[in-house]
Amino acid sequence: MSLIDLRSDTVTQPTAGMREAMQRAQLGDDVYGEDPTVNRLEATLAERLGFEGALFVPTGTMSNLLGLMAHCERGDEYIVGQQAHTYKYEGGGAAVLGSIQPQPIDGEADGSLGLSKVEVAIKQDDFHFARTRLLALENTMQGKVLPLAYLAAARELTRRRGLGLHLDGARLYNAAVKLGVDAREITRHFDSVSVCLSKGLGAPVGSVLCGSAALIGKARRLRKMVGGGMRQAGLLAAAGLYALDYQVERLAEDHANAERLGAGLREFGFAVEPVQTNMVYVQVGDQAGALGAFLSVRGIRVSPAARLRLVTHLDVQAADVPRVIEAFAAFQQA
Ligand SMILES: *Cc1c(COP(=O)(O)O)cnc(C)c1O
Repeated sequence: MSLIDLRSDTVTQPTAGMREAMQRAQLGDDVYGEDPTVNRLEATLAERLGFEGALFVPTGTMSNLLGLMAHCERGDEYIVGQQAHTYKYEGGGAAVLGSIQPQPIDGEADGSLGLSKVEVAIKQDDFHFARTRLLALENTMQGKVLPLAYLAAARELTRRRGLGLHLDGARLYNAAVKLGVDAREITRHFDSVSVCLSKGLGAPVGSVLCGSAALIGKARRLRKMVGGGMRQAGLLAAAGLYALDYQVERLAEDHANAERLGAGLREFGFAVEPVQTNMVYVQVGDQAGALGAFLSVRGIRVSPAARLRLVTHLDVQAADVPRVIEAFAAFQQA
């Protein structure tokens, strides 16, 4: 019985083609700027997303941290969602390491931050207040895709009020594939974008921060400071390049599998939120622990929670979906 791991899209194994690309990668010392594969990854993503520069880093957390610190000085603040990764799931790094104050606001049901709420949260220029410098958005946000018209409105607001605009695009390509647009249609609205290679794209390690030459220059200095300057990192960058060339379009399969999974669970009476990309949220309430144990015995791994998140990825096959639905149905009937 093969294991079906639905905890996250971070659990994927590198594909055979990806391992081969890593094996073949030309390497050098990236702290000296001499790793040709890292340089190629950075140039490729900068070009594809429409930025002057890009920086390869070990994690999305570091990429976001460097982005926030490149935009904001000590005593500045960024406006961010209560449930955003850059607020809730990064160990308070911006505050701890950057002395940057978050101004969290409640998000909307569609994953956006209401722009009238954002506008109210922007502080006046007054020495009592931190200086509001940046709006940080996330796309996809818990599997939801932010509408392009919303991004354009967020850009207009931030430009009018003199704020920077950062995107935590850990799953940028899920959003682009879902919308059927070039990723640039999303990224063109932002001053900086962080993209994870190690989520749905299936690389083992790595994220890339994109921005202006000045922002990336600043982030490069900060990356060394926080210990993110890697040496023959082309071994990892090769996996990222392979993912960008061969594992973007296939995200549509993950979305289709998630859609089928959601529909199947709904048929058995589970309360499933509308599915947009590769995440299925199911309300299981206080049954979470029992359900998790029941599924585990049947070779299905989840992270038990009342609002249970099931994530599809390249190691979940279409044929796995009925097996998961049957296991949920069996639990329901047990
Ligand atoms: C996973 C994730 C990150 C951070 O990535 P790590 O590589 O795990 O540090 C940032 N933002 C979002 C939305 C994520 O899902």
